[in-house]
Amino acid sequence: MDLYREHILDHAKNPRYAGVLDPCDIEHEKHNPTCGDFLHLTLRLDQYQNVSEIAWEGEGCAISQAAASLLGEVVIGKSIGEVLAISQDDVLKLLQIELSPNRLKCALLSLNALHEGMDAYENRKKVNE
Ligand code: ZN
Repeated sequence: MDLYREHILDHAKNPRYAGVLDPCDIEHEKHNPTCGDFLHLTLRLDQYQNVSEIAWEGEGCAISQAAASLLGEVVIGKSIGEVLAISQDDVLKLLQIELSPNRLKCALLSLNALHEGMDAYENRKKVNE
């Protein structure tokens, strides 16, 4: 049975933006214990505070890794506010498959990592201002 659509398998096997950026402006790690997925996000901002580069290092199921890869293509060039405005529905539209509640955690791991990393960055900035 062909459980996953081809573009998910493609992104899972050949993840875009794989690796670690060093140095980086935003770094965040997130686990999904339900499935064993792990993602390590590193991200760089340009002088206008827009996302200029993103990299994911991770392991886990095809959905968690493909979602991170797909999301990478979306966030390049976006401002922090625009990335924070990306919703769960937007990620599900990228994946284009029906997901059970457990699989939903896999699909949203990358979005949650992005949002938490950016929230922490914004909070650090406020403290330093
Ligand atoms: Zn998973």
